[in-house]
Amino acid sequence: MLEPARPLTPAATPGAAREGAQARAIAARAPDEFPHASARAGQSFDASQTSRPAWLGFAVLIALLLVALYPSFALSSTEIASTRMWPAKEYTRVTIESAARIRYSVFSVPAPDRIVLDLEGVAANPHIDALPGKVSPDDPYVKSIRVGRFKPTVLRIVFDLKDGARAEAFALPPVGSYGHRLVIDIYPLKPIDPLMALVQESERKRDATAAAADSSADTTATVRTTPVSIDPAAGAQPRAVPGTIEARPIVIAIDAGHGGEDPGAIGPNGTQEKDVTLAISYKLRDLINAEPGIRAFLTRDGDYFVPLGTRVQKARRVQADLFVSIHADAFIKPHARGSSVFALSERGATSAAAQWLAKRENDADLIGGVNLDVRDPYLKQTLLDLSQTAQINDSLKLGRSVLGEIGEVNTLHKSAVEQAGFAVLKAPDIPSILVETAFITNPSEERRLGSDAYQSRMAAAILGGLKRYLAANPPLARGPRLAQSATAER
Ligand SMILES: [Zn+2]
Repeated sequence: MLEPARPLTPAATPGAAREGAQARAIAARAPDEFPHASARAGQSFDASQTSRPAWLGFAVLIALLLVALYPSFALSSTEIASTRMWPAKEYTRVTIESAARIRYSVFSVPAPDRIVLDLEGVAANPHIDALPGKVSPDDPYVKSIRVGRFKPTVLRIVFDLKDGARAEAFALPPVGSYGHRLVIDIYPLKPIDPLMALVQESERKRDATAAAADSSADTTATVRTTPVSIDPAAGAQPRAVPGTIEARPIVIAIDAGHGGEDPGAIGPNGTQEKDVTLAISYKLRDLINAEPGIRAFLTRDGDYFVPLGTRVQKARRVQADLFVSIHADAFIKPHARGSSVFALSERGATSAAAQWLAKRENDADLIGGVNLDVRDPYLKQTLLDLSQTAQINDSLKLGRSVLGEIGEVNTLHKSAVEQAGFAVLKAPDIPSILVETAFITNPSEERRLGSDAYQSRMAAAILGGLKRYLAANPPLARGPRLAQSATAER
C-alpha cells in the first residue's frame, strides 16, 4: 500500500537551510521516510504463508520479544478515533482525533516540499489508514499523504505538498462531542487577500453586467452608486480598489455561520447548520450581485472553519458597508420556532435566551479549533471593546428592516431585534446583524431549512431588508467613518 520509501533530500539550497536542524538531524539518522515499512509488509507476508519455514518461528519469537521490550507502547498505544480533511483555498485543515492526547513532532522537508508528522505511541488502524484516501484531487495545497511506521513506537505521516505551502500544527483539548484533536493547518505561503477575492468577484460581475447590457436602473440604484465622499480632515486616500470602476459599490459581507470542524446545530434528521447557512448565503450572494451598485463578499465560501475574529477582520479588509451573519440554530427549548435578528450589545443581553445563544455562537471558535499561538495580534486590536454605540444604533436599524421582511417568510420568534455579546458582530465600524433564519432543532423548521424554496425566500427577504435600510441610510452619510476606518486599518 505504501509507495516505496523515498530518501529525505538534504537541504540543497541556502534558502532551504532554514528548514531546521531537526529535519536534517532526522535525515541523518534515518535515510528513509519509512524504514519500518518493510516490517509491515513482512507481517502480511507471514499471514499468507501456507508452509512455514523453520526460521519463521524464530521471527515470531523476535516479534514477541520486541513487544515485550516496548511495554509502554503496547499498553499505552493511542487509538485514532477519526481523521478528517477540510480542503479550502484559504487553508487546508487535517484533523486527527483520539481519546487521549497524542505526542507529536512536526517538521518540513524541502525539495520536494513535504510536512512530516511523527505520532508517538499510535497504532495504525483503519482511521489513520483512510487518511491518504481523503486527499481531494483539487486540494490547493496537499498533493498526497503517506502513512508508515518510522520507528516501532512512531507512526509517521508525510504530507506531500503542492507548491508554496506551509504548515502549522497544534493540539486542541476535548470540547463538545470531540475528543482530543491534533490539527495540521496547511496555508499558502502568500495568504489569500480578501480584497483581492472581492476585486476578482467584481470583475466577474462587471463582465456579466456588460454582457447583459442592462439599462434598467431604479432610483435606489442611483443612490447606491454614489461614490463615497472622503473626509479631507481625516487625511485618507480615496478608497483604491484596483480594477474597480470609479463608482464605489456598496459591499455587503455575508457571513455563513460555522463550517468545517464546526457543524453548528444539528437537526433531528441530521441537517447541519453549516450547510444550511452556506446554501442561504450563496443564494443571498447571487441576489445581491444581480443588483446594480451592490456587491456581496462571503467570509467563507466552502466547508471549512473560519474563526469569528477572522470573519470580522475580512469584512473590515474589504471595507464592507454592512455585515450579515446567517445562522439556523438550536434553542433552549427544542420546539422553539421562528426567525430572529440580533445586534451587538455592549453589556448584558436583552433576554436570557439571547445571552444563551450568543454564548453558543461564541463557542464556535472552541469547536472549530483556533490556534491560539498564532492568533494575529492585529485581530485583538480589531476586537478591542471600543465604544460601539453608533455601530449598535445602525445595527438595530438594519435589524429592524431585515426583521420586517423576514416576518413575511417565517413566523418571528421575537418581534423586536434582540441584543447580546456576539463576537462576530464586533466590527466597530460596520453595522452588523446576525439572522437566525429558523430553528434547525425544530423538526418542521429543519425540513423548511433544507428546502431550496425556503432558502430562496429567506435570502430574498434578507435582501429586501438590506435594500430598505440602504435606501433610508445611503452610504454617502457614512463616508467620513469609512475614511477613518481606512486609515486605522494600516
Ligand atoms: Zn449558529
